[in-house]
Amino acid sequence: MELWRPDRVYFEADARNTVIGRRVRDYCIKNNVEMLETTSHNQVRNLPGENEKAKYAAAKKTLIVGIKRSMKLEVCKPSADYQFSLMTNCPGSCEYCYLFTTQGKKPYVRVYGNLEELYDTIDKYIEKKLPHTTMFEAASTGDPLGVEHITGALKETIEHFGRLKQGKLRVVTKYAAVDPLLDINHNKNTRFRFSINTNYVIKNFEHNVDNLWDRLKAAEKMALAGYPLGFLIAPIILHENWKGQYKEMLEALHNHIGQQQNSFITFELIQHRFTMNAKNIIEERFPNTKLEMDPEKRLKKWGKYGRVKYVYEKNQAQEAKDYLTGLIKQYFPNGHIQYFT
Ligand code: SF4
Repeated sequence: MELWRPDRVYFEADARNTVIGRRVRDYCIKNNVEMLETTSHNQVRNLPGENEKAKYAAAKKTLIVGIKRSMKLEVCKPSADYQFSLMTNCPGSCEYCYLFTTQGKKPYVRVYGNLEELYDTIDKYIEKKLPHTTMFEAASTGDPLGVEHITGALKETIEHFGRLKQGKLRVVTKYAAVDPLLDINHNKNTRFRFSINTNYVIKNFEHNVDNLWDRLKAAEKMALAGYPLGFLIAPIILHENWKGQYKEMLEALHNHIGQQQNSFITFELIQHRFTMNAKNIIEERFPNTKLEMDPEKRLKKWGKYGRVKYVYEKNQAQEAKDYLTGLIKQYFPNGHIQYFT
């Protein structure tokens, strides 16, 4: 479990003096990381690299500290009511990453300094929906635990939700560095989810994230710290011996957390999908990818904004759904499957 270290950090002028900006600056000084300036976190140019593959690798080692300008929160179905960003993108390099579709051209990692403004916005959204509880997703534009050792923003956000009565938070990660989050006042208002997968998927497609065992150990620690837990099995990939490997994965999960009293565990099941745009980017950045992306073998589906995505054929998707549902019921009788998509 190695913590990410950027090669260079760009600061927007307004972000330098925020709490996050100062923390990142201290991190850079301590770790001898180059500090640069940018006029906008949306337009960082001249990153090193002669081809797309090298440029992508350089961007994944670049951190930008900016100010989030828009405070309009987007709807986030099916996992929550709204989503907000503590950061955009992620130090990881998963070959199938859903961000290729939305962030394809700007794969550098961005974090935002204006947390207080964000918390005010969240509080207002909650107020509008009273007396109902409002659920927020903090990880739909990146993996905030991947930069937590640099910003500390996730800890503060979990503590903010810990003080709220009608607001709940959901986070998902492929990282395991949860120690700074264990002894804080989360008040059970944050459901902490881990994205898990078979060893085949992790070994072949998930780079610069933590391995399954570290994620499972981290999940165990979070369960002991009293957090409500959840697991995303995503993307479900029907590789050779997928049944055997998904069974092993759920067995291992059961061995780590099955005995916890805290057993109202949620599961979200997401089958592998791709867009043609993402496929082109993936093939440029990972020319030897083993990811199966043949549109002829897939079912065409229309998503948000008229985007076409390719999912498994109906009978294959149904088989995966039935099989995984059966395993989850067997190993986690109190587990709750929220959706299969
Ligand atoms: Fe993308 Fe998540 Fe992998 Fe980061 S950890 S590269 S956000 S899939």
